[in-house]
Formats: sequence, structure tokens, C-alpha cells
Amino acid sequence: MTKPTQAPPKINLDIIVALAKRRGFVFPTSAIYGGLANSYDYGPVGVQLLKNIKDLWWKEFITGRTDMVGLDSQILLHPKTWEASGHVTAFNDPLVEDIKTNKRYRADHLIKNWVETKLIQNPTDSAWQDFSVENLKLAEMGTFITEHQILSPEGNPLSAPKAFNLLFETAIGTVAGAKAKVYLRGETAQGIFSNFKQVLDSTRVKLPFGIGQIGKSFRNEITTGQFVFRTLEFEQAEIEYFFDPEASDWQSIMTGWKDSMWQFVTTTLGIKSENLRWRQHTDKERSHYSQDTYDLDFNYPFGWSELWGIAYRTDYDLKQHMQFSGESLGYLDQNTGRKFIPHVIEPAVGINRLFLMILCDAYRFDETKQRVVLELTPKLAPYQLAVFPLVKNKPELTTKAESLFQMIRQNYRTIWDDRGNIGKRYLAQDEIGTPFCMTVDYQTLEDDTVTLRDRTTTEQTRVKTSELESKLAAMIG
Ligand code: ATP
Repeated sequence: MTKPTQAPPKINLDIIVALAKRRGFVFPTSAIYGGLANSYDYGPVGVQLLKNIKDLWWKEFITGRTDMVGLDSQILLHPKTWEASGHVTAFNDPLVEDIKTNKRYRADHLIKNWVETKLIQNPTDSAWQDFSVENLKLAEMGTFITEHQILSPEGNPLSAPKAFNLLFETAIGTVAGAKAKVYLRGETAQGIFSNFKQVLDSTRVKLPFGIGQIGKSFRNEITTGQFVFRTLEFEQAEIEYFFDPEASDWQSIMTGWKDSMWQFVTTTLGIKSENLRWRQHTDKERSHYSQDTYDLDFNYPFGWSELWGIAYRTDYDLKQHMQFSGESLGYLDQNTGRKFIPHVIEPAVGINRLFLMILCDAYRFDETKQRVVLELTPKLAPYQLAVFPLVKNKPELTTKAESLFQMIRQNYRTIWDDRGNIGKRYLAQDEIGTPFCMTVDYQTLEDDTVTLRDRTTTEQTRVKTSELESKLAAMIG
């Protein structure tokens, strides 16, 4: 086994990006054409990890609960949806332009970086300790940039900030002119609100209940360089949890959902709690429709950033859609005969941000063995077991290994590898987080045992093939 001689790498985004590319988790989109800004494809192991995250989310929040139902609405919705939701007028980022290169940047991000640099230079500077860029309006950001002479990353002056709408526009072919304009959805949530009545009418749901869906959303993001954290096209898993504000207390519903989110991230996904924190939005930062908002932040390599948001949106969305569609979206309480508009709490997460969090949290450089290990829980690991014949040119070994492989892959995500020496094969599996490797060797032919190697400890134990299934069930589940 060849051991790298250089100093152990420290975790940073470049290391994660390189690992993701090297091992087939994430590739830059259209790489053969030079790539496409803020766009990534998921390779053979990445797509499996994404699917595992989505399956776990769906199981925990949809099929695992009696008060939730699922939905799959379209990416292209009626354009009035986005007028009603406020996205056409208010879904904006503050954009500034480098006046020499014409490169565009988020004004709030440049200001935040500037303040962070000030605090690094002087951590006790009280002027900046409680500063929050979220409290600045567009014009105030312009004044701030001018007053503090903030320049672009290339060192050039910046234009005044302007509001840049994040919705992508396209057109449908059945109608001509302005009527053809549609938007790629900026969030999955609006498809839930516009289907609220149809879900009510077609199922036996009763308040309080929620509708959840997983699907692609699109935002014309300006910020680059945050890998899959911020992309033009991404997947969201959103829940709208409807309740009667007179019968239920919104604070306890919100606390219940916050606990469920925390539980999912720490217990189901196995993320270390020291890498997580709750952050309540300030009054100025909170969206106009929200009465209270929290972000569950993860400590990404570029700092604490939003993983999952939860907002109390009151009856704002249903009312807006009632007004714009003319349809009644009220709820009739069968017991009391009272008709009202339900209120809603929305936990909304990006699957790709969960994915990046998982890679960052699971990454470990094992200095003793000079290896990279992804400490993924068996539920998340793209492969749960790798099967190796010790050598590939001994039919008695490969036949035995092949039959065990075929048996195990009925129940577990299993990969076959017969290339190179065993040490290299272990290293390759460690880097994609495979929790166990099984080797069929000469001793197998004598006593029907195999070597089972644990990714985390590298310990190897001999296991009887007749006990394999029960052993794997105990370790993988
Ligand atoms: P941010 O402030 O980071 O732009 P946001 O507050 O606009 O995010 P929401 O509108 O609350 O995000 O969307 C819900 C979730 O969708 C976010 O918590 C995040 O996980 C995910 N998300 C939002 N924008 C993106 C994006 N461009 N790429 C990947 N995931 C995203």
C-alpha cells in the first residue's frame, strides 16, 4: 500500500470538492464545454447518496407520520402563482457590479465579508460585533459600501446596489406573446398552497396536517464559489403544516417541528451537534409574511450558513392565492361548522445543502493510516458493503465471492471490486464511506469464513458465511 508523504490535509471546501470529483460524487456540469456557473452534476455515488437522503426524509416526515401526506407538483406553474406569492416583485437579491469587469456580486455578501475581516483584525471591536447585514435595506447597503469604500474582489469600485430578481423565465409554446411567459419555480412550496383544496377534497386529512414534497427549484443566483451549497438548480424538501390558529398554539407546533428537524439531522443523518446551531431571524430580516423564522445553520467550511429554515407564515399564502385565483381556500371544521383560513408553519430544506453538510461532517483524515475516511452512517452510505475476491485470477475464489455477492446484494447496496491490491481497494471504499468490506480468501475455501473489515476501526474479523446475513443485519440494519 503506498502512503502519501505530505502533511495531512485540513478540511476545507477545496478538499471536499476534489474528493467529490475524484470519487464520483459531484462533477462540474458541462465540464467538456468549460463548465456552467453554479451548476453541478451528481455522479454514480453522489446520486445514490442524494437518493438515500431523500428516502430518509420521505420516510421520516411523510410515510412515518399519520399527520402528513405527499405531493409532486409541476416545475412550471401558472404564472399568477408567482404574482400571488410575491416572487415576481419581491424575490430579489441586492446586486452590485464591478464597474471595470462588469462582474456581478451580492452586495450583502461583500458587506458581510468586509465586516468579518474587520472582526478578524480586531475581534473586540464593539462597532461590528452586533452588526447584521440582514438589517440593511437596499439603499442603506449602497451608503455602507460608499462610506467604507468597499471594493469588488478584483479591487475595483462597485455600482450602486439594485434589486435582481431570482426567478428564471421561459415561455410555453401553446400561446403567443406575453401570455406565454412562465417561470421555473423558485420554491416547491407554492405548488403545495395551490393544491391545498384539491388535497382537502380528495383525501381524509383533518387539521392539523401537513403536505410535503421533494422537487427541483431554480434561482438565478449570483454568488459563486460555494459548490453545491448555492446552485441555479437544486432540490428542496418542503413541508407546509396547516393548523387552526384558534385550536392550536403556533409556538408549540413550531417547537415540535424544530425538534423533529434537529432529530433528523443528528440522529437519522448522524451529524455532530457541535456543527449545528439555531439562529432566529431579526425583525428587519424576516420576510414580511412571516411572524417568526429560524434557520438551522451548519458550520460549513465557509462558515455558519443556513441549512434548513422554518417559518410561521400565518395565513398569508392561502389568502394571497384566494385573492389572485378567486377560489375559496378555506377549511370547514366538521365539528363546529366554523369556516376559516388555516395558518401554516413551513420547514424547508435543500437536499443539496444536506448533501454538502454530510460530506463535510463525515470527512476525516486518519493520520495513523494516512487515509481519507467518510464516516457515513450505513443508512446513508452509497454502498453498504464491498465484496472482494482476494485475487481475480483464481476461479475458486471469484466463484465463491460472486455467489456471496449475489446473495448479499438482494438486501444491501453492494459493490464488487476485484482490481488492484486489497489495500488500495479498502482505501477507495473508505473514501466513499462504505462501512464494511468483505474479502473472500484462501481460508474461505477451507472453513467457509470471510474477512469482514470495519471502515472506521479498520478491524478485521472472520465471520462464517452462514452467519453473514444476521451479522450484516445487526450492523447495517
Ligand atoms: P439563502 O438565504 O441561503 O439564499 P433562502 O433563505 O433564500 O436561502 P429558502 O427560500 O428558505 O432559502 O429555501 C429553503 C431552503 O432551500 C434553504 O434553507 C436551502 O437549504 C435551500 N436553498 C435555497 N436556495 C438554494 C440554492 N440556490 N441552492 C441550494 N439550496 C438552496
